[in-house]
Amino acid sequence: MRDVQAQAASAHSSTDDSIFYALTRSICPDCKRVIDAQVNLRAGRVYMRKRCPEHGWMEALIYDDAEAYVSSQKYNKPGTPPLEYSTEVKDGCPLDCGLCPEHKQHTCLALIEVNTACNLSCPTCFANAGKGYNLTLQEAEGMLDRFVELEAQPEVVQFSGGEPTIHPQILDMLRAAKDRGIPHVMLNTNGVRIAKDDRFMEELAEVRPSIFLQFDGLEDRTYEILRGEPLFETKLRALERLAEADLDVILVPAIERGVNEHEVGAIVRFGLEHPAVRGVNFQPVTHVGRHEEFDPMDRVTIPEVIRGIEAQTDGVFVKDDFVPVPCCFPTCSSVTYAYVDQDVVTPLPRVLNVDDYLDYITNRTLPDLSMDVKRALEGLWSAAAVPGSTATAERFGCAGCDFLDNADIQKLKKHVFMIMVKAYMDAYTLDVKQLMKCCVGVLTPDGRMIPFCAYNTVGYREQVRTQLAGRRLRS
Ligand code: SF4
Ligand code: SF4
Ligand code: SF4
Repeated sequence: MRDVQAQAASAHSSTDDSIFYALTRSICPDCKRVIDAQVNLRAGRVYMRKRCPEHGWMEALIYDDAEAYVSSQKYNKPGTPPLEYSTEVKDGCPLDCGLCPEHKQHTCLALIEVNTACNLSCPTCFANAGKGYNLTLQEAEGMLDRFVELEAQPEVVQFSGGEPTIHPQILDMLRAAKDRGIPHVMLNTNGVRIAKDDRFMEELAEVRPSIFLQFDGLEDRTYEILRGEPLFETKLRALERLAEADLDVILVPAIERGVNEHEVGAIVRFGLEHPAVRGVNFQPVTHVGRHEEFDPMDRVTIPEVIRGIEAQTDGVFVKDDFVPVPCCFPTCSSVTYAYVDQDVVTPLPRVLNVDDYLDYITNRTLPDLSMDVKRALEGLWSAAAVPGSTATAERFGCAGCDFLDNADIQKLKKHVFMIMVKAYMDAYTLDVKQLMKCCVGVLTPDGRMIPFCAYNTVGYREQVRTQLAGRRLRS
């Protein structure tokens, strides 16, 4: 009886002032058991509250703007299924990945993790880089073929790790992706080898992937905390070489409480001014793999990063410039685009009411909206959009045609700047509602495509690592 009273007291103390908004499923951060989870609105923020039969009640902040969370639901675009599923529905989400037939969206962006080793030992590393495996070229080719089978015309593949640039066959893997006609081939890197290895850089310049560059700020203190060493000069050197080779770069800052929230504006300004940079993809730190101690109730979430950008850029970008991405679940990420001409930055939502086109609940049938503009915006507000690419420039040119007279697409490529804020989920925040509409997947050698947040939280990463590390390769 005392247990019942204690539970009742615990339940009461944390929900008195909450609005119960939704019931979903999540996992216990301690034992990974799948459990019910409540989504509650309290004091203008959104919290997930759940109870594990073994580890008790727990609560975590998931979005620090309740109004934006609720209103984002209108951007939930109907999904498009993949051509094939790889698993059956058996134990329920998130244990059947995937994709299983219950999944609501195809994969816009597929990741291939080519290795587990790295040339850094970051204290914050969602992949928990270290000993493990190197994929063979044949395995990577098999995954690319599977991606083509699943999507027919796949859009983006991103090679990741570990640190993919230290894989001995990474250049062949990038070429293999291009040979299969995948239009956007990305390399996700810390930039260390790019900064130091002339020969590698020469070959990379020939293959011409888009570069997704880890870039957490402009202060060495930030790198010392998140990456274990002062890396700012290395990042600058890598960027200089990428600019010389005319490769397109997206900066990828991980944002952590007490470390670099104050740098978001400086990162945007740096990106706007650097000749190689076409965008910034901010990622509040996801607490999986290795990470610093943190308070689940006081974590950085998407709205805080957007407010930081507004305050620290003196309004060059403001909150209303950011619109949730409809192809995945709208609370996964928000994006804006701007036309940049020297010092003049014009965010697209200031010249076009993006809401009118991407609101799938209220405005779906408005007759006077141009379908071409709607399709262009859907292409831009998608995980498959790659800044610097011809496709992104064409879509921007179409959406912004009222203020961009006869835009030359090749020139436009260098003037379109993207800012995305993307919050990957961890075991504290995992919501199967978001997961079931995930459009970012990790390809595995056995032909599965596992939604990225499930891969990191549910145990799939560990499963694949054990399987691959234990296999015997023919020499
Ligand atoms: S995340 Fe998608 S693929 Fe995985 S179990 Fe859930 S519905 Fe199936
Ligand atoms: S975060 Fe990236 S660079 Fe750092 S150890 Fe992990 S894989 Fe390597
Ligand atoms: S990877 Fe995670 S955050 Fe991104 S779309 Fe999938 S579920 Fe959402």
